[in-house]
Parts: sequence; structure tokens; C-alpha cells
Amino acid sequence: MVLVDTHCHIEMRSFDRDRKAVIERARSLGVRNMIAVGVDLEDSRRAVTVAGTFDGVFAAVGIHPHDAKKIDGKTYDILKQLADNDRVVAWGEIGLDFFRNLSPRAEQNRRFREQLDLADDLNLPVIIHDRDAHGETLGILKQWKGGRTGGKRGVVHCFSGDTAMAQACIDLGFYISIPATVTYRNASRTRDVVRAVPMERLLIETDAPFLSPEPLRRERNEPAHVLYTARKVAEIRGMEPEQAGEITSRNASELFGFEVFP
Ligand SMILES: [Zn+2]
Repeated sequence: MVLVDTHCHIEMRSFDRDRKAVIERARSLGVRNMIAVGVDLEDSRRAVTVAGTFDGVFAAVGIHPHDAKKIDGKTYDILKQLADNDRVVAWGEIGLDFFRNLSPRAEQNRRFREQLDLADDLNLPVIIHDRDAHGETLGILKQWKGGRTGGKRGVVHCFSGDTAMAQACIDLGFYISIPATVTYRNASRTRDVVRAVPMERLLIETDAPFLSPEPLRRERNEPAHVLYTARKVAEIRGMEPEQAGEITSRNASELFGFEVFP
């Protein structure tokens, strides 16, 4: 089995106690690579440190829409310095969260656009967070000039839109990342997306420590559990889990530009 967890938060404090064991457990199940995704300045710093400490772990740096209001005159300069590191493979997570609205919507919009352009300047793919903001997210992605450095490259992580939205994102050049919610009883819309989109555009992720799969929903999530999502995607697509793992790993390697670590 070859797997890549394209979105997790093993840099967060909930893994301070047993981070090494968590990463080893994932690796022993075939999770060759994990991307530790920053959500704010301090968390991005931690993600880069974790990526520098463990083989097979990469990092993304960026400011989550929840923290858009905390961005000040120095934030982007510090992030750019952090990004100047070969373990950093993406800018994110960035986007819009109109579910919790922890930053004002206008500010989320503005900071999302700014960070898209920063990622483009640095030639990094973007990792996008979209919660209850499908239309607005798609609108911004359409308007984004991108392409200065080879097209609109990125992924809509923890995808929660419908098939039409998925297709629109793919048409723009983006990948769709499927989390463990696909294992939930009420997730028929996500299963429809998995069924409909080209396998070459799908990634899988845990978003650990959040969003544990069925039947582990009461536990802390961890990268090893990306296996549950691979199995569910395989079941929906009528293929073997190994094949789903291999295709999604190859997709991750193409988007993020790393060799899948043996
Ligand atoms: Zn996340």
C-alpha cells in the first residue's frame, strides 16, 4: 500500500506527546508522505520544524481564514522566509470560512486573494479551505490571475461541495481532496463527487487531529487513518485500495512536486 496524507496538522499540540509514534504508525501502514499544513504564523513555523525533523513529512505555510484578522504588516514577510525551504511544498491553508466567521468576511476575502497572489509569486501550489462559501470561493479562484508561474495549481481541501462545484474547480486546474467524511452515513454528496470526477484529480487526506473516519469518530484522528479514506474511495470507484492509494499518491506527487518517499 502506498498512501499520501495531503493534509494533516501533526504540527499541532495534540501531537506533542507522541508525534514520532504517530508518524511511524502511519509510515508502517504505507503512508509515505504527509503534509503538515500551517493555519497561522506560529503553526506554520511548527509545520516547517516538523517537516525538517521527520523523513517523508512536508509543510505548507499560510494563514487560515479564521485568522485573517490577525495578519499584520510583518506576517507575509515572515511566511515568505519560512517558505524559502525545500521542505515547504505549498501555501496554505487559505480560503473562506463562512460557517464560523471568526474573521469578518470582507477581511477573509481580501486576505485570501492576497495569499493566492503570494503563492503565485513563489511558484507554490495553494491549499484551499472552503466552508459554507462555495460560490464565493469559486468566484475568487476564477478571478485569480494565477498562471504567471504555470497555471492555477492547487487543491480544494476537505472538499464539501457538490459534483458541479468539483467539476468547476477541476476545469480551473485544481485537485479535489477527499477527507474521511466520505465514510460518514450522511455523506452521499461527497460519495457522488468521488464517483463523478476523474481519478487523476483526486487526493486524499485526514485533516488530523480533526475529522476521524467511521468507526473511530470519537478518537483523535491521525495520518494512519488516511487508509480508511483510500478504502472508501476504492469501494466507490470499484477498484482495489492499493490502486486508489497509488493513483492518489501519484497525483499528490505531481501537484506538490515531491518524489513519493519510499
Ligand atoms: Zn486543515
